Amino acid sequence: MKINKYVLISAIILILGIGIVILHNQGPVLNNDNNGMTSNSGVVREVIANNSGEPGTVEVIRNIGNPNGKKIAYVVGVHPLEHQTHETLVKLLPTIKNLNYSYDIYIINVTQNVGHYGDGSSDNNLGRQNGQNLAYKYVYPQIVNGNYSLVIDVHSNVGAYPYKTFVFSPVTEGLGEKYASKVASSCANVTYYQPASTTSGPYLTIPLNQHGIPAFYYEEYSFATQNEKNVRMLQIIHAVDALNL
Ligand SMILES: [Zn+2]
Repeated sequence: MKINKYVLISAIILILGIGIVILHNQGPVLNNDNNGMTSNSGVVREVIANNSGEPGTVEVIRNIGNPNGKKIAYVVGVHPLEHQTHETLVKLLPTIKNLNYSYDIYIINVTQNVGHYGDGSSDNNLGRQNGQNLAYKYVYPQIVNGNYSLVIDVHSNVGAYPYKTFVFSPVTEGLGEKYASKVASSCANVTYYQPASTTSGPYLTIPLNQHGIPAFYYEEYSFATQNEKNVRMLQIIHAVDALNL
């Protein structure tokens, strides 16, 4: 039997079309954007400061996790030399499924006087001050007005403290301290340890706590391997997400 070629072509087109529709409908909810970041459809990345007079830019990635959950902000980039730990959070958090809370990540990108380890002034170099200034000018107001239940400021250190990996709130006897203590108790090799002073506290975590927004630091060890950073960051992410806010 000879089948009309137009019928045959129509049938093939129809079958292909149905196949495409089925594949499309079965496509994952998660998708990959140009950065290779896995994100759900509500996640957006915005530039919130990009002014030529500033020593860097500020971005935010919004709406990671449960869109109906309470809001938590992570802040990275206050101290630019600590970028490996910052990148670890930005890489991992959007890949976690079934988060309880809704997360925004504020990203400070210092471009002037970033500095380098071993320059002899790691506590005082201009890059650190640049990041602190950008945090106070652009991140702090958005968080104060953003209805957040918790803020975590992500840092790393070169090992000059009694502990290499720790959490703490610079303001004691508040929810920031309570939540940080709970997170420490949930994570292997993460201690609650409050240094005598911090250089960045007055620019973010101290005023946030004073305005009733619990905020604490996560300090990773700068020279831990990337695998160690990954494992610890995942513990922190899950411990934070398990908090009863
Ligand atoms: Zn730092």
